[in-house]
Amino acid sequence: MKTVLSGIRPTGNLHLGNYYGAMVNFLKMQEEYKCFFFIADWHALTTHPDPKTLHSNVKNILSEYLACGLNPEKSVLYVQSDIPEIAELYLLLNMQAYLGELEKTVSFKEKARQNPNNVNAGLLTYPVLQAADILIHNADYVPVGKDQEQHLEMTRNYAQRFNYKYGVAYFKEPTAFASDQQMIKIPGLDGSGKMGKSEGNAIYLIDEPKTIEKKVKGALTDNGPEGENTSKPDYIENLFTILKVVSTPEVVDYYNNLWNTGATKWYGNLKKQLAEDIINVTTPIRERINEIKNDDAYLHKVVTEGTEKARESARKTLREVREIMGFKPF
Ligand code: AMP
Repeated sequence: MKTVLSGIRPTGNLHLGNYYGAMVNFLKMQEEYKCFFFIADWHALTTHPDPKTLHSNVKNILSEYLACGLNPEKSVLYVQSDIPEIAELYLLLNMQAYLGELEKTVSFKEKARQNPNNVNAGLLTYPVLQAADILIHNADYVPVGKDQEQHLEMTRNYAQRFNYKYGVAYFKEPTAFASDQQMIKIPGLDGSGKMGKSEGNAIYLIDEPKTIEKKVKGALTDNGPEGENTSKPDYIENLFTILKVVSTPEVVDYYNNLWNTGATKWYGNLKKQLAEDIINVTTPIRERINEIKNDDAYLHKVVTEGTEKARESARKTLREVREIMGFKPF
């Protein structure tokens, strides 16, 4: 069975973009593939998170993943820092990673430009750690956004170099998991192109109904269409994009018709409907998140079992890699 792997950094709560852009696909993947979903807490260290909140951030994401429907009976759920084999593979793969290439990585250059006072070696070798995450389970597919494609390409390079250097066909070359579904991009309500936590325009799965209503009410609009069958400006199109994923086709048609007839003064109703439908999607998830977050025994069980499965797979890889490289026990 093909293997899928995806990691997420514990740096905030899941929003609608994460849900429709990633989670909905994960829920399908876990029915068809052997899936590894992990929380990348080592990756979060590049920005030196506060030790007081690191664990609760990991717990939040784990609770949210479970509440969304990731099933620990079907998928392997774990926390990166519980799998020491990843760190060892990272060390070994560092020997296949060349400084010039690492320095040229787009994400590295961007982060270095944004935070010139924190250009640490962990940031430079971030793609190597990511390669270790993937190769430790010899994953076939990695569902990644456009911004991560370069890192996946680097993973393939390290896998190829390793195979070539040691004359083996050991590591697979992982590919991006692409489906039509994955292309869904949820816009922000502020007229910007993308919903994101760093953009400050996100509707979170844990947001209370009142908060969601307020956020939707504040979405950028105008005085209405300037005639019949005009094209929608981006910020209105954005509202329809979200409506399409949370509402029924009838509702979407209804508001599209209003737009096309050139009618005005219906944005208030549209926003009310949009908020209501978002709340319908998020309410059961929010309730489960709050239940799971308070169930330490359940979380402990999920992580213990996930760690065991992940380590079994990781130990096997590392044993074989060590053998290929010539490490031998006395
Ligand atoms: P992030 O929380 O920004 O690291 O995103 C994690 C994953 O969620 C990304 O790789 C995307 O697959 C997905 N994602 C994030 N924001 C959006 C969005 N606005 N629309 C669709 N998918 C998104």
